[in-house]
Amino acid sequence: MILFASGNKGKCAEAKQLAAECGVELVAPSDLTESFCKAHNITFPTAPPPDVEETGKNYEENALLKAQAYHEWSGLPAVADDTGLEVEALGGEPGLYAARYAGEHCSPEDNMHKLLAALDGQSNRQATFICVLCMVGAEAPLFIRDQIDGEIAHEKEQGGGFGYDPLFFVPEFGHTLAHLKGEGVEVPTHRRKALQQLFSLLG
Ligand code: IMP
Repeated sequence: MILFASGNKGKCAEAKQLAAECGVELVAPSDLTESFCKAHNITFPTAPPPDVEETGKNYEENALLKAQAYHEWSGLPAVADDTGLEVEALGGEPGLYAARYAGEHCSPEDNMHKLLAALDGQSNRQATFICVLCMVGAEAPLFIRDQIDGEIAHEKEQGGGFGYDPLFFVPEFGHTLAHLKGEGVEVPTHRRKALQQLFSLLG
C-alpha cells in the first residue's frame, strides 16, 4: 500500500483513479481512519496529517519534503507530487510558486485572475504544467518528472478538475482541462503520465 502524500483533494482523486486502473493500491491521507488502519493491519496515525511548508528551491526538493513528511507521519511508502505552471510569455512564472501566485492564502480564483491580467493583450499563451513525483520509503528516494504543453485560455471554461484547470487549454483536445475532466476524457496530463511511469516501474 502506498500513500499519496497530499492534502489536495483534486490531486488525490486523480491519483487514486489512475492507481485503480493500474491495479496499484494507493490511499489518500483522509483514507487512514482508525477503522481502515485496523482492517489493514497498519498503525493509525493519531496526529493530523502534516502541513508541509514548500521551502524547496525546485520541484524535486518540494516533492521530497512532502514525501518524507508523509512517510514519517504514516509509516507507509509515500509518493508526493509537486506541480508547477510555467508560462512562456511570463519568463516561466508562476512556476514553482503556482500555488501562491496571487499571495500567501489566495484561492485558485485569485491565481487565475492574476494570470489572466498578466497575459492581458499577450498573443503568446504557451504554457506547460510540470509534475515531479518523489517516492520515499522503499530505498533511495525515487524521482519522476513529466509535463503537458498547452495554452492559457482567454477566459475560464467550467467543468471539473481543480486549480488552474479552467484556464489550461489543450490544443489536441480543443478544450481546457476543466472541461475535459468534467466530461471524463482521459487526457494524458503531467500527473497522469508521471504516475503511469511510476506505476510501471513498481511493476
Ligand atoms: P502544488 O503542487 O500543490 O504546489 O500545486 C501548485 C499549484 O498548481 C496549485 O495552485 C494547484 O492548485 C495547481 N495545480 C496543481 N496541479 C494541477 C493540475 O493538475 N491542474 C490544475 N492546477 C493544478
